Order: sequence, then structure tokens, then C-alpha cells
Amino acid sequence: MINPRILAHTTEVEKGWEGCLSIPGIRGWVPRYQAIEVEYTDRNGNLQKQELTDFVARIFQHEFDHLDGIVFLDRLDSTQDIITEQEYQRVVCAEK
Ligand SMILES: [Zn+2]
Repeated sequence: MINPRILAHTTEVEKGWEGCLSIPGIRGWVPRYQAIEVEYTDRNGNLQKQELTDFVARIFQHEFDHLDGIVFLDRLDSTQDIITEQEYQRVVCAEK
């Protein structure tokens, strides 16, 4: 995806757990748009439009933020929405 843009998004926001290789050892409960419409140039130089929802929409928004130097910690509603990776593995993964 070259020069990605978010063209539109739902007003609905959902929270989900995110981690990041740039910030090892912690996880955050991050609000993201549930669905987004994106545009980008593909490897062949063609303009593409796509609608992304749920987990894929979350991943896109996470990676898209990195292009602007934003990490998931910048998107948290509260610092209380941060937990350690250990806590995440013990509590959150145990629920699944
Ligand atoms: Zn990341």
C-alpha cells in the first residue's frame, strides 16, 4: 500500500487490545473506527479503493498512524488502559 489515505470512517468506535513491536512489553485498550474506506496505490501503480472492517480496519489504522509518528499509546482514552504483556497473557488470553 503506497501513499494510503483514509477517505471515510464510521462514527462507531470500538476498543480492542493492541501491542506493537516498537513498544515491547505492554498492551493498550485502544479505540479505533469499526470500519474505514481507504485508498492507496498498489505495487503496479494502480489506484485502489477498499473498505476494511473490524480487526483489519484496526490493523490498518495502527500501521497508518506509524506513518505520522503516532503510536497506540497516543490513542488511549486513559493511561489506565495500559497493561503489561504478562498481565495480558495471564488475564486477557486466559478469557479466550
Ligand atoms: Zn505498531
